[in-house]
Amino acid sequence: MKFSVLADTFERMEKTKKRLELTDFLVSLFKNTPNDLVAKIVYLIQGKLRPDFDGIEIGVAEKLVIRAVYRSTAIEIKKIEEAYRKDGDLGHAVSKLIEQKTQTTLFDESSKAENQTVELVYDSLYKISELEGSGKNVLDKKMNYVASLLNNVSPISAKFIIKILIGTMRLGVADNTILDALAIAYTNSKANRENLEAAYSVSSDLGKVAEVAAKAGLKGINEFKIKLFKPIRPMLADRVKSEKEAIEKFGKKFAAEYKLDGERVQIHLENEHVDLFSRKLENIKRFYPDIVENISKSLKVKNAILEAEAVAINENTGEFLPFQELMHRRRKYNVDKAVLQYPITVNFFDILFVDGKSCLDLSYSDRRKKLEEIIKEDNFIKIIPQMLVTNEIEIEDFLENSINFGCEGLMLKDLEAKYRAGARGSNWLKLKREYRNELGDSLDLVVIGAYFGKGRRTGKYGTLLLATYNDEDDTFPSICKVGTGFTDENLDQLFQILSSKVTLKKNPRIISEMEADVWFEPELVIEIVASEITLSPIHKTALDVVRKGSGMALRFPKFTGKIRMEKSPENASTGDEVISLFKGQTKITQNLD
Ligand code: ATP
Repeated sequence: MKFSVLADTFERMEKTKKRLELTDFLVSLFKNTPNDLVAKIVYLIQGKLRPDFDGIEIGVAEKLVIRAVYRSTAIEIKKIEEAYRKDGDLGHAVSKLIEQKTQTTLFDESSKAENQTVELVYDSLYKISELEGSGKNVLDKKMNYVASLLNNVSPISAKFIIKILIGTMRLGVADNTILDALAIAYTNSKANRENLEAAYSVSSDLGKVAEVAAKAGLKGINEFKIKLFKPIRPMLADRVKSEKEAIEKFGKKFAAEYKLDGERVQIHLENEHVDLFSRKLENIKRFYPDIVENISKSLKVKNAILEAEAVAINENTGEFLPFQELMHRRRKYNVDKAVLQYPITVNFFDILFVDGKSCLDLSYSDRRKKLEEIIKEDNFIKIIPQMLVTNEIEIEDFLENSINFGCEGLMLKDLEAKYRAGARGSNWLKLKREYRNELGDSLDLVVIGAYFGKGRRTGKYGTLLLATYNDEDDTFPSICKVGTGFTDENLDQLFQILSSKVTLKKNPRIISEMEADVWFEPELVIEIVASEITLSPIHKTALDVVRKGSGMALRFPKFTGKIRMEKSPENASTGDEVISLFKGQTKITQNLD
């Protein structure tokens, strides 16, 4: 398949924000794609080469791309840099330059572009991703690949190849849109999307789902099974504000477990072979060598997939420490030292697979029983405390114990519920301590921009501009500015993290009428509490939902101290969540009246 066919589709997709139109483009693209190629095309649409859990990064520096453009097009480096500075998007800037060049020379670039196939582009990108290190030899090889990728390509192809190379490919298609399009293209009905989503939830590999749909249709999709060493999309919880609300929702006896404030770790193990995945399904084995080393000693089975919360502890007192402590392990070098400095316990709460069989269809009670059967607890390995409850007093009592223990609150679980991979639902409910005051919940918001600080904060970002996530059109609409709740250490840490995310121009996925001193790639998620949600003429979250022309904003927002490294921006709070908190809040006010 010619790469220009793919690039032309990308070009059309980039120009629309409408989900239905995006779906149509994808459907016709899939229908024209050979079955063997569809997985690769799905990854390229996402700007990747493989699913996240494979940990493959293309990672080519902009500078190297600029030199490669010079080598393959003879456009002067200075000219490229200048165009990039003005445009803000390297792919777009180079595409324009090549276009101008073709117009002034007699070359027919578009016919030459036909040589570059999707297969060739993908293979070269893959080879680039395999080159490790920053020695001259490696850089030369990278340079050769990049220059040959850009040799004789059309302006539009060049644009997207560059975007994929430097990691700025953003077509605005959420996973859901791709699933819709796959259902239509390969099973003839959007209604089958649920089946595709189920296959995606147990494999976390959208390319694989696409390939099976293309080759074996719905029958193949329905045969997807949970597999060792392929992460499963985690089951998530709804929130409740009170014990009473939980009792009403379940209407019968249910389980309460401590909600620990650590990092969710999905542990896959077969004999001595162990792999660990985060909530975002990234491979996090390197940060937890202690789990890898010790886990098999504490399990009475040969193979299993388990879920646990890894929590930093004070080794002397055994007390749980806040989530932030764990993040010290996220470093490139000297992880072993960090492991000693920041010890953890591994606290199990679920089992998804054991002895070659899936446990997803077992009830919560049966899974918990299995978990208790196979785990030998010690100082490092624990099972999360649990209690069966029926009334408010029991829950209140258990909640208080959990908080005294350094937990965030409770997870409440339906005893009969199966494990629903990838779903947020009312079979699991979370009851947190913070729910009791003010807004009733914290929000996880994406940092999109910042303003330089004054006084003590000179040279740092004093105030941050935040956004929610809109999964309908894959954008980040603004919701508030926040300047309180930061310690000096927080400010330093945020400055360090955010400095690497600065962009020259506002990312097109950011929807904000407010200007900022600096804009960031919308990547970092932080936790915020606030006193109230109000209608706003400026902010764009949930625009037009409550009142035409108005969005929603937070009043008196405050940083809680938590940087949510384990959350991707697509996991941030959505406009719908804000609206539901807003409605809860108005109900309380009305009741008080
Ligand atoms: P939160 O902001 O509350 O962490 P979240 O979006 O990360 O939310 P939720 O499903 O809303 O995920 O809350 C469940 C999270 O709580 C899990 O991802 C897990 O990391 C953590 N957790 C702690 N204790 C438990 C437990 N006993 N059972 C399940 N999850 C637990």
